[in-house]
Amino acid sequence: MSQQRLRIALQKSGKLSDGSIELLNKCSFKIRPAKNHYLIKSNELDTDFLMVRDDDIPGFIDSQVADVGIMGENLFIEYNLTHSDNKLEIISKLEFATCRLSLAVKSNSNIMNIDDLNGKKIATSYPATLANYLLENKIKAEIVVMHGSVELAPKIGIADAICDLVSTGTTLKENDLVEMQVLLFSEAILVGRKDMPQFIRTKVKELVFRFQSVINVRNSKYIMLHIDKNELPKLEKLLPGYEAPTILELQGHPGKVAVHVVSEEKYLWDTVNKLKEIGATSILVMNIEKMIA
Ligand code: AMP
Repeated sequence: MSQQRLRIALQKSGKLSDGSIELLNKCSFKIRPAKNHYLIKSNELDTDFLMVRDDDIPGFIDSQVADVGIMGENLFIEYNLTHSDNKLEIISKLEFATCRLSLAVKSNSNIMNIDDLNGKKIATSYPATLANYLLENKIKAEIVVMHGSVELAPKIGIADAICDLVSTGTTLKENDLVEMQVLLFSEAILVGRKDMPQFIRTKVKELVFRFQSVINVRNSKYIMLHIDKNELPKLEKLLPGYEAPTILELQGHPGKVAVHVVSEEKYLWDTVNKLKEIGATSILVMNIEKMIA
């Protein structure tokens, strides 16, 4: 198809939409979704965003309505199981909307393990993935397809178990359900056709480069602190991810230096007191928007 604009399908509303828009806006796309806007145009990379239902995204890419799309990996797996021609490929993992597809039962259920599911009914929005799992585990159960509110199925008596996405586990808890078995882990991914034209692939490569520069530092902070020069070896042990720090002499304070370093946020609070113990002062912690390799 000869058109020059890049068409990206995004979930209009739901678990992936905020994360997708946040990631794209950090890559300068300036997307401002509005209620009835299904097409958003951006001058960045000459891009059109199609704001659609998430389960329409793989089909739109397959039929060339969109060039690429952001979707849950779980949806990609479900789509591939029902489309044997396998025309789609994962271009990049995007490290947000992480969740798992799990089997869950009522907390007082006598279903204790997956073998107990034989002869039972399981409600899900992912019938192909569930059918595949049951086949692999030689379990004969009836699949009840639902397109939402799957967690209500045991309560209203239409299924004995559910197979649904779990993120924090709150929805299961609120519905008196317990997770029994994880089928797969999922996160947001960028998907395209394996046979995308070269000019699209070039633009997608640039898109992925921008995504990576944001993803690389999503969990990192830029730390600046003052410390005695002699304590620098200890600092290295306290700040994992501490790589190629900038060390500057402090004027008027011989033997003291300013250190600028990128470090992973998850280690920060654990180590801040230890940093103080080795005499670090003026500790500044800053967000990093992008790191371009
Ligand atoms: P939670 O209560 O946080 O475990 O979220 C569970 C609810 O959110 C269920 O209704 C899931 O179907 C839905 N959900 C959780 N994570 C995702 C995701 N990454 N993509 C789509 N739906 C999700």
